[in-house]
Amino acid sequence: MIVELVSVGTELLLGNIVNTNTQFLAEQCAALGLSMYHQVTVGDNEERLAEVVRTALKRSDIVIFTGGLGPTEDDLTKEVCAKVMGLPLREDSHTKQRIEAYLKNSIFKEIPDNNWKQAMVPKGAIVLDNPNGTAPGLILESGNQAVILLPGPPSELYPLFKQQVYPYLKKLQPEVIRSQMVKICGVGESQVEDQLLDLIDQQTNPTIATYAKTGEVHLRVTARGKNEEEAKRLTKPVVKEIKNRFGEHVYSVREEETLEMAVVRLLQKYELTVTTAESCTGGLIAGRIVNVPGASDVFREGFVTYSNKAKRKYLDVSKSTLKKYGAVSSETAREMAIGGVFATDCDACVAVTGIAGPDGGSEEKPVGLVYIAACVKGKVTVKKYQFRGNRAKVREMAVVRALDLLRRSILEQYR
Ligand code: ATP
Ligand code: MG
Repeated sequence: MIVELVSVGTELLLGNIVNTNTQFLAEQCAALGLSMYHQVTVGDNEERLAEVVRTALKRSDIVIFTGGLGPTEDDLTKEVCAKVMGLPLREDSHTKQRIEAYLKNSIFKEIPDNNWKQAMVPKGAIVLDNPNGTAPGLILESGNQAVILLPGPPSELYPLFKQQVYPYLKKLQPEVIRSQMVKICGVGESQVEDQLLDLIDQQTNPTIATYAKTGEVHLRVTARGKNEEEAKRLTKPVVKEIKNRFGEHVYSVREEETLEMAVVRLLQKYELTVTTAESCTGGLIAGRIVNVPGASDVFREGFVTYSNKAKRKYLDVSKSTLKKYGAVSSETAREMAIGGVFATDCDACVAVTGIAGPDGGSEEKPVGLVYIAACVKGKVTVKKYQFRGNRAKVREMAVVRALDLLRRSILEQYR
C-alpha cells in the first residue's frame, strides 16, 4: 500500500520552520510497512493545493496531510480536499460541543466566530477527536483510498497520530513489518558492505540497510510477513549469518542498546568495576559510561589528566616515560591504564592520550594520533590510531574506539 505525505504551509516553503512532521510521519509509516514514494510541501494556496490533492490521489492509496486545519482564512486544507473529492461540508455537532468545552477554559471570554469553521466536516468523514486543540483530525474514505487530515502543531499531531491514525492504518495494512538491528564497531562501512555483498545483492525479503554512525556501522534487517512469526522467521537466519560473519565486531542486536550500554552490560555480567584515565577526551568516556542507567554498579570515579603533571600526580606515570616517549605514546597510555587501576582498586581501566589538534602535531606525531590502552584484570592492551578530521571528530572517534577496546578486552578475558 502506497502512502504519500503532504505538508501544507507557506512558512515551510520559506524555511521559517523545519518540517519535523514529515520526519515523524515517514518513520511511523515505515514502521507500518507502508511504501512511500512521494513527500510534497505546498503553500497555503487554493489552486496549488488542489493540484497536489488531485496528483496524490492519482498515485497513492493513502494521502496524509498536515497543517492548514486552523480557524483562520488561510487554513484551506479541509476545504480544498473536500472540494476536490466532491464532499459537501456540514456541521458536526459533536465537534462543535468539543470545541466549546475546549475553549471554555481558555483566554477567550467568547468563542471566536471563526472557530466554528473547525466544526464543519466533509460528508462521511471519520472524525478524530483532538484532545490538544480545536481542529479535529479527519479521515475521508473514497473507494479503496483514504485522505487523512491532521493538524500542523506537533503537540496535536503526534498524539492524534499515535492513538488514532496508527491503529487505523495498521488495520488497512495486511502485512506486518519487522526489523532487527545488528550493530557493528571496529569495521568500516565499505568493508561491511563488501563482506555482505552476496546477501545484499540477493535481498528482497528481508532487506538489509546499512547506516554509518561515528565509528560504528548499523545494519537493519527488515522483513515483511503475513504475521509477526513469519516476519521473524525471515529475519532470523539473516541476522544469524551477519553475526557469524562479523563475530566479535558485533556489539549488539538490540535497537535501543548503545555501545556504552553494551560495555556496562558486560562489566555488570562479569562483576567488574572500571575507571577512566583520559587526556584528549577530557571526560567524554566517563560521560558516555554515566549515560547508562545503572552505571553506578560498575563506575565510581574517573580521571581527567590533561597535563603531564596530572598524569604523574593521579596515575603515577613515570617522569622518565614522559620524557623518553612523550605524553602521546604507547608507553604513557599503558602506564595511565595501569595507574588508573592502582589508584582506584578497580578491575579495569581505559586510558586515552592523543593529539586532537588543530595545533600540537608534528611530522612524527601528527594531529589525530591517539593511543588507547585497556587494562582488564591485569592484562593490558595498547592500540595506536590515526584519526582524521577536526578536533571534535578526533575526540569523538577516540571515545568510540576506547569503549570498543574496553569491550573487546573484557570479552578476551572471559572467552
Ligand atoms: P493552527 O490551528 O495552529 O493554525 P494548523 O493545523 O492550521 O494549526 P498550521 O497553521 O499549518 O497548522 O501550522 C501551525 C503550526 O504548527 C506552525 O506554526 C508550526 O509551528 C507547526 N507546524 C506546522 N506544520 C509543521 C511541520 N510540517 N513540521 C513541524 N511543525 C509544523
Ligand atoms: Mg493554521
